[in-house]
Amino acid sequence: MVGIVVVSHSTLLAQGVVELATQMTQGKANIAIAAGVDDPENPIGTDAIAVMAAIEQVCDDDGVVVLMDLGSALLSTEMALELLDPELVEKVSLIAAPIVEGTMAASVAAAAGLTREVVIAEASSALDVKKAHLGEATSAQQDDQKNMQQEDLQDDQNGDGNSPSIASQIPDGLTLSVEWQVQNPHGLHARPAATIVGTLASFDADLALFKGDQQANAKSLNSIAKLGVRCGEVIRLQANGAMAQQAVDAFTQLANDHFGEAAQVSKMLAGEGCLGEQGGQGGESQEETLVPSPVNVAPEGALAGISVSDGVAIAPAAIFSVAMPAVPMREFVGASAEMLTLKNAIAQVQQDLTSEAVGPHGAIFESHGLMLADPEIISALEQMVAKNVTSERAWLTVMEALAAQYAAAESQYMREREADIWDITRRVMIVLTGDKGSALTLTDPVVLFARDLMPSDVASLDKSKVVAICLSEGGKTSHSAILARAMGIPALVKTKGCLEQVHAGDTVILDGFAGHLWFAPPTDIEQALELKRQQWRDDIENSAANAQAPAITKAGSAISVLANIGGPNDVEQALACGAEGVGLFRTEFLFQQSDVLPSEEEQYQVYRDIAAAFGDKPVTIRSLDVGGDKPLTAYPMPAEDNPFLGQRGVRLCLAHPELFATQLRAILRAHAEQPNIQLMIPMIATVDEVQQVKALLVQQCAQLGLNDTGLAVGIMIEVPAAVFNAEALAKEVDFFSIGTNDLTQYVMAADRGNSAIAELVDYFQPAVISAIAHTCDVANKAGISVSMCGEMAGDTKATETLLSLGLSKFSASAALLPELKAMIRRS
Ligand code: PEP
Ligand code: MG
Repeated sequence: MVGIVVVSHSTLLAQGVVELATQMTQGKANIAIAAGVDDPENPIGTDAIAVMAAIEQVCDDDGVVVLMDLGSALLSTEMALELLDPELVEKVSLIAAPIVEGTMAASVAAAAGLTREVVIAEASSALDVKKAHLGEATSAQQDDQKNMQQEDLQDDQNGDGNSPSIASQIPDGLTLSVEWQVQNPHGLHARPAATIVGTLASFDADLALFKGDQQANAKSLNSIAKLGVRCGEVIRLQANGAMAQQAVDAFTQLANDHFGEAAQVSKMLAGEGCLGEQGGQGGESQEETLVPSPVNVAPEGALAGISVSDGVAIAPAAIFSVAMPAVPMREFVGASAEMLTLKNAIAQVQQDLTSEAVGPHGAIFESHGLMLADPEIISALEQMVAKNVTSERAWLTVMEALAAQYAAAESQYMREREADIWDITRRVMIVLTGDKGSALTLTDPVVLFARDLMPSDVASLDKSKVVAICLSEGGKTSHSAILARAMGIPALVKTKGCLEQVHAGDTVILDGFAGHLWFAPPTDIEQALELKRQQWRDDIENSAANAQAPAITKAGSAISVLANIGGPNDVEQALACGAEGVGLFRTEFLFQQSDVLPSEEEQYQVYRDIAAAFGDKPVTIRSLDVGGDKPLTAYPMPAEDNPFLGQRGVRLCLAHPELFATQLRAILRAHAEQPNIQLMIPMIATVDEVQQVKALLVQQCAQLGLNDTGLAVGIMIEVPAAVFNAEALAKEVDFFSIGTNDLTQYVMAADRGNSAIAELVDYFQPAVISAIAHTCDVANKAGISVSMCGEMAGDTKATETLLSLGLSKFSASAALLPELKAMIRRS
């Protein structure tokens, strides 16, 4: 990737510019700063050595583009070139582009993997948006003018106006193609389509996917999804261009793995053959089952709907209507400016979706992010704004057309994605217009009525106020239905006529078991429904009661069962599910939810309050675990070639002591009030790292005036080096917690997010089991506790094995705890 260097007299200025660029590129650009001088009295200036170091830091084979502010910045940079290795100098381009706009444009182009020439061209024309807005001639217009003058001159000299076009100088490559009969039970639904796009997007080739004579852009999620490829259908990838062969090879490899669904395909082939739309699993929610809905005939006095979540609720009705923000009446401000507005709005929504994608139903919001990243949407928008259409109008028009295509899809699953398109459309429209609409404020419990709800609406519902949901539209596999089910809210979809018959405030009874909505049932039916409701509540309470009982194995060992949480919102559910404390509090959420870093005070309050909610049960706070793979808007970091092997977790924290010290101080202060808090450090590989953390803790303790805090300090065992160094590490810390998510990826050298190698990312692999066994062995011999907080801990298929290896604490998502406890009791 082309590196970017920003040379400025002022560190603050350079940091601000880089902060903007990092936000725009979501941390993907590789940017270094050479700014200010090392003189506390007079910090404004530039330093050739610093420029040289910055160039060396970001230069690879693709070269570096340097942007400078003024005066001596240029001189220092030129001097830096004289000091640099001449081979390196050839890869460095100094450009006159404006430092703010130029850095933005250069970073975006560099992050997209474009060449140095393109990066320079982008930066050099970076003022065009402003110029267009202010009615000045842009560089392209100036170039056109110059070219016309030159052509006129040549025509005058040659008497011939025909020069060869650039396109005709590029030789036509061979067109390669490969065919594949799709065996995925649900065809190419969103997940396999995303796998295809994720793999093919980076190849420099034109890639088209065909189903019969229908054609899709193989780099576009929406385009592939619209093909509606079903199990048993044949698709053909057609590739043309420089990397056609590599793209075909990568596609073939993916196809052989059934686009990341090899396990589902073999299960299906062993049994039933291809599933039609009426059976098996649906989409990215693997637990969704599309069973044929029996025709539900409503008894007299009730309406029939399709039940998507069981339960019975009796409450007044409230009607929820979400309006799409209106397109504002305003002047068109130029194609580049309108496009920039659109890209910024899309980027902002993507950023929001990234933080939602870490939540319990992250996959839904992750798929929304993929839909937004679709190049087809961008090119359709470009075509519209080129016709002088404002950004808001262009966005709505393009997305309306896309939603209509989904609505007309052959497959039910694809039709139900229409709601997802409307959800992202509305989110971007809200950013574009600033019009959030009027939210429904609820004070008492209600049955919520709507035409349809978007996933973000459902996720933000106050469960204590919404006791049931009734939709006149919606679908069984819609993401809102999945969320309602996960939140335990009884819900009906496709309850035809419900909106016409209901009035706000009417008391209604929603029977999610039978799929009925009652308005004013006869007394005997009302009593029977009330009984059914009580029975349902009792059952929930009974299972919750068992969840609170301890988990004791048949041999009589008491095993701790703790919860993994992401923030205060998870506390209630964790306690209700029987968590005996928190084995992993991922503190990233505090840092990812805002554009500014959380202050020490804010962090302290959150840590203290969460610990207080757990009384004297242990609460394990994991220090910040972010890095190149999980960038923070609030703390821009340079992009890395191998982020999973780079500055993440404790490595980043130790390299940025100001960031780390703030968090440690907050934890120490919270611990002084809540002694049930313990600290856990992620990504530890060496004893030296632990000692550095402990030294920082001692230093911060002293600054806070605390003598000996008695804060227990443990580490995550998730890097193979930590397994090999376990004996030495056990002497330094109070506990180990095995992070199988990362341990598996590092032991197997297999990216945990890459479905092409999914069978390697498997914690049952003997090498991973052996690393776990060694860790448990060392901890037990050293007399420190050993727990597990990776996904494996919540997998009941692994429980017996883990107990036999000597694991004494398990930490998993709250919803898994009752079943995990039951499994431990059976073991
Ligand atoms: C792990 O790696 O197993 C773990 C629990 O940490 P995270 O998934 O947050 O990286
Ligand atoms: Mg981890």
